[in-house]
Amino acid sequence: MKQRVFSGARPTGKQHLGNYLGAIRNYVKLQEEYDCIYCIVDIHALTSLENTRELQQNIWDMMLDWLAAGLDPNQSILFVQSHVPEVTELHTLLSMVTPLNWLLRVPTFKEKVKLQPHNVNYGLVGYPVLMTADIVLYKAEVIPVGEDQLPHLELAREIARRFNSIFGNTFPEPEAKLTEFPLILGLDGKQKMSKQLGNDIEIALSPEETRQRVNTAVTDPARRYRHDPGHPEVCNVYSLHRYFNPSQLDRIAAECRTAQIGCVDCKKLLSDGINTTLKPFRERRAELATRPQYIREVLADGASRARVIARETLREVKEKMGLL
Ligand code: SF4
Repeated sequence: MKQRVFSGARPTGKQHLGNYLGAIRNYVKLQEEYDCIYCIVDIHALTSLENTRELQQNIWDMMLDWLAAGLDPNQSILFVQSHVPEVTELHTLLSMVTPLNWLLRVPTFKEKVKLQPHNVNYGLVGYPVLMTADIVLYKAEVIPVGEDQLPHLELAREIARRFNSIFGNTFPEPEAKLTEFPLILGLDGKQKMSKQLGNDIEIALSPEETRQRVNTAVTDPARRYRHDPGHPEVCNVYSLHRYFNPSQLDRIAAECRTAQIGCVDCKKLLSDGINTTLKPFRERRAELATRPQYIREVLADGASRARVIARETLREVKEKMGLL
């Protein structure tokens, strides 16, 4: 029996290089070794999303990107969180065993309060309980996380442990699969690539659009003129070459340091590398986009497979809690 992996991602719409290099490639790889459940967590998005007009389009675009990148609905369960409403019921039940002070001390809650003081909603405090419900509803055993997400997973483990100690062994304590999520900087070369910050490169862009975006990238600030020697180690364009032109890294570094290559040519090389790497993905995405019925079927099938597991877990939970 393969172990079960669960991972959820907010519906952020068309995915960018940071999402692709940091999460999607890893999701695809995990399918070989585990039974994977990948979920677009639309309810979580509501904690900070006040305008939901784009929510459905974002879910659609994200699923298209996932499928085109190699997530296989025949191997994995791919679905949207709210399509399996059992998760909200389990969230309520788990909230009864979760001490409030565990939630109030969560650093991301404190950060969110600062970020959106006008919208400190109950969902923000309960976020880790919903996250726990996401995981334990499917009795997931393995959760791919970066080091920074370990405290969240630890809280989920504590909630699962507390439930088990009160009502008897029900949930496996989910284990972290520490995964290296490379920090991909945005075009500003300073902050993490993010759609909100507008420093991203969407993977579904056309080759020409990609070139235009790459051309706006900040490079080594000390290299002001073409004849100035560069410092590839501080240049974000160079760090992206690692993923898209790995065989040319040494040559690019040497030519940058001796000013044999200019930033314009170097960026062209990078866009060529990105465009070549993403060509099969883009072709598949364009083909999938012509088959909306297929995407709807994938989502419906994913939700119905997830629901089979969810209903069984919820029945067990309610029985143990004395609700049946
Ligand atoms: S030549 Fe390339 S690596 Fe060197 S500073 Fe310019 S963009 Fe960066």
